[in-house]
Amino acid sequence: SERTLVLVKPDGVSRGLVGEVISRIERKGLRLVALELRNVARSVAEEHYAEHKDKPFFGDLLEFITSGPLVAAIVEGPRAVAAFRQLAGGTDPVEKATPGTLRGDYALETQFNLVHGSDSVESAERELKLWFPDN
Ligand code: ATP
Repeated sequence: SERTLVLVKPDGVSRGLVGEVISRIERKGLRLVALELRNVARSVAEEHYAEHKDKPFFGDLLEFITSGPLVAAIVEGPRAVAAFRQLAGGTDPVEKATPGTLRGDYALETQFNLVHGSDSVESAERELKLWFPDN
């Protein structure tokens, strides 16, 4: 079995969609190992999104992700990384995510795309160390 980092981003928390995200994770058969509402330090956000540091949207992305509380979770199960990416849908909630996915059903803009899920087993390892150093 495998572990992935899931974030319900500040837009999901402020819109009251935390329960919906958790519900879909559980219905899929994935298991919650840790779950916490937290405010993200800018340094953690910078490290989390380090691969995007030269992108034009990096500043806005940091601003957004630190704009209010988010939910961070460790999600576990067989092929958990790919399984949650499937639930989330593509990064662009209109052009890529299809209806039936979280982003396809609940988001309109790429910046405000509701959730994050690690994109590979290697990313999951790195991100889980960053977000849950004690687990
Ligand atoms: P995440 O890492 O949040 O799960 P992702 O892996 O689907 O998203 P990435 O390409 O890694 O997508 O982009 C990370 C995040 O950066 C996106 O989820 C989105 O919030 C933001 N982002 C990506 N591209 C753009 C863009 N063109 N304009 C604004 N924000 C963007």
